[in-house]
Amino acid sequence: MADVQNVTVLGATGSIGQSTLDVIRRHPDKYRVFALTAARSVEQMAKDIAEFQPRYVVMADEAAASQLAEQTTSATEILSGGDAFATVASHEEVHQVMAAIVGAAGLLPSLAAAKAGKRVLLANKESLVMAGPLFMQAVEQGGAELLPVDSEHNAIFQSMPAQYSGEFAPHGIDKILLTASGGPFRGKQRSELQDVTPAQAVAHPNWSMGAKISVDSATLMNKGLELIEACFLFHCQQEQVQVVVHPQSVIHSMVQYCDGSVIAELGQPDMRTPIAYGMAWPERIDAGVKHLDLFDIARFDFMPPDETAFPCLRLAREAFAVGGTMPAVLNAANEVAVDAFLRQELSFNAIPDLIEQVMKRHAVEQIDELQTVLAADNWARGCARQLMAEDSL
Ligand code: NAD
Ligand code: MG
Repeated sequence: MADVQNVTVLGATGSIGQSTLDVIRRHPDKYRVFALTAARSVEQMAKDIAEFQPRYVVMADEAAASQLAEQTTSATEILSGGDAFATVASHEEVHQVMAAIVGAAGLLPSLAAAKAGKRVLLANKESLVMAGPLFMQAVEQGGAELLPVDSEHNAIFQSMPAQYSGEFAPHGIDKILLTASGGPFRGKQRSELQDVTPAQAVAHPNWSMGAKISVDSATLMNKGLELIEACFLFHCQQEQVQVVVHPQSVIHSMVQYCDGSVIAELGQPDMRTPIAYGMAWPERIDAGVKHLDLFDIARFDFMPPDETAFPCLRLAREAFAVGGTMPAVLNAANEVAVDAFLRQELSFNAIPDLIEQVMKRHAVEQIDELQTVLAADNWARGCARQLMAEDSL
């Protein structure tokens, strides 16, 4: 490893992006910010430029980029537009890329980092869900190092044998136990969820996260996306991944072995732990996270997920079983539905209904190339919007 690692943070102004910058802030001898990107948060980005003096900043929104350029006195070059994201993700001077853009918008830059053989710290699970086979192929062909940042997958990675070959049997692995907090509505019936508000849905009991993933946690779609993510990352079948609701969110996931052993990773629900683990792997560095006090936690609870109240987990399983373009369609329909829910244009219970209707209308294709994935994503968004406009839910 080079002495100082140059890092590009995609989605720098978000929850994961800011946690990443906090880890970097603690280790100026090890990491330097090379580039930061965001959609349009000028104020936060101006602060981050002043502190980290990156070589490049990319804003998706052109007006935001111009506004930022007017205010900034540092030597940072401010860019905008789609190609610029891929450029800073694949730049030859970059060692590590934190992929923390939310949603499908993260796919192309994450893929560019993988193709360029970077260490890819993957938070943007949507890119794996949409294009898993193509993404994993890009990692292999580009010679990239893929380190999962999603807390569950990071825990699984830590609980797997060091030389995991991509097959369960030779290592005596029986199954992955993927933990879920159950979200803010755990224990509620579907009939009680009809009128829940965006504010209630984003108020996650344990984790502080962006709005989209918070709603996904409330619907259990987050666990569905994570199930698909686990299957791609660890080369397994969905039957080899069991979802276990664990409301304390202290155990971040586990691996069960054929001799009866279960290996788990425990910690505070603070994303700086998996971020720091991915950045420093195979070493460990201080992440600024408070140490765990087991007496304070006192007990662990476990229960199966309620798939009647929360149908999104089933929909994700079905999409993955069908394969091809279906997971991309599930993801795109979910993004449209969550966005509409946050704008109070769709009820909470209509989120899975809308996704299911879009999936039913989709003619699945194999995904040999990226264009097919992007076309399916686009089709699903159009279909979801049309169904909402027709009010046919
Ligand atoms: P967030 O909403 O807080 O931040 C999203 C970031 O992406 C922001 O910097 C925003 O400016 C940028 N962005 C949004 N739309 C964009 C676009 N069209 N083009 C370019 N940039 C865009 O989200 P988050 O909670 O930090 O989550 C980021 C990703 O990490 C998601 O894929 C999420 O599923 C995953 N993740 C988050 C957590 C968490 O604790 N927050 C945990 C595990 C995984
Ligand atoms: Mg997670």
